[in-house]
Amino acid sequence: MAELPGVTITGASGRMGQMLIRQVQASDRLRLVGAVERPDHAWVGQDVGAAMGGGDIGIRVTDDAKAAISAADAVIDFTAPAATLDFAAHAAAAGAVHVIGTTGMTDAEIAQLAPFAEKTVIVRAGNMSLGVNLLTQLTRRVAAALDADFDIEIIEAHHNRKVDAPSGTALMLGEAAAAGRGVSLAEVSDRGRDGMTGARRRGDIGFTAIRGGDIVGEHDVMFAADGERIILRHVASDRSVFARGALKAALWGIGRAPGAYDMLDVLGLGD
Ligand code: NAP
Repeated sequence: MAELPGVTITGASGRMGQMLIRQVQASDRLRLVGAVERPDHAWVGQDVGAAMGGGDIGIRVTDDAKAAISAADAVIDFTAPAATLDFAAHAAAAGAVHVIGTTGMTDAEIAQLAPFAEKTVIVRAGNMSLGVNLLTQLTRRVAAALDADFDIEIIEAHHNRKVDAPSGTALMLGEAAAAGRGVSLAEVSDRGRDGMTGARRRGDIGFTAIRGGDIVGEHDVMFAADGERIILRHVASDRSVFARGALKAALWGIGRAPGAYDMLDVLGLGD
């Protein structure tokens, strides 16, 4: 029997890294071939199963990302922007599918991925869950159906260790709302209200970030007019929804032509 496609997980000790390792171990369609952490991390050199508090699984955590990615058909990467750019170079050189869940990348950092997408498949999404990707489509449709009498506000809530704001998902939803309205998010985005801000500018898309406790991820898209409000809501109660989406993206990407894709492509929800 042919071997299952091999996957390397970066940021192995992270919240998503550990969830991804568990999901790959449980998968009958993918096998774990590598687990990467940053140099000097306490897990480097340990068996990743043992490091996660279980039994050995025969994969040692390494800080040699290049070697671990070269050995894989796909790398699933939920880490940090600078690390993701390094991993993208290795994935492109090795022809490994690069599934990027990392958020908080600047436009300049995202632009640096373009040459790598000419060499391999990159699937990047601020949220890998089916529900949120459906929500972006609904948001676009509702925004297209309503005029600027409806103020659009995006409210997100996450755990107290999250380092970027607004969340990648909130920005995805903002992009979807702006696309529905036929405007550029950069021109209408209102992200920092504090003090004497003046009245809300008609047509703006506002963002609010709540941080607290262990909230996995909640997003509301509010369309507020005089006398009525529509609220589209997604609540993630378990990180496994992101991990399952990422595994699906890796399987989808293997054998596909190089390019930059997102979860709408993977889920067949695009136009
Ligand atoms: P986390 O617990 O902080 O995990 C990040 C991991 O990446 C850590 O283990 C970190 O190591 C590691 N890392 C950072 N730089 C590295 C490097 N140069 N080499 C190797 N490993 C490195 O965060 P998380 O909650 O898992 O989230 C990770 C990212 O995924 C964030 O950007 C988050 O917003 C995003 N996310 C995306 C989705 C989605 O569906 N797209 C869903 C959830 C989360 P250290 O601890 O040593 O820094």
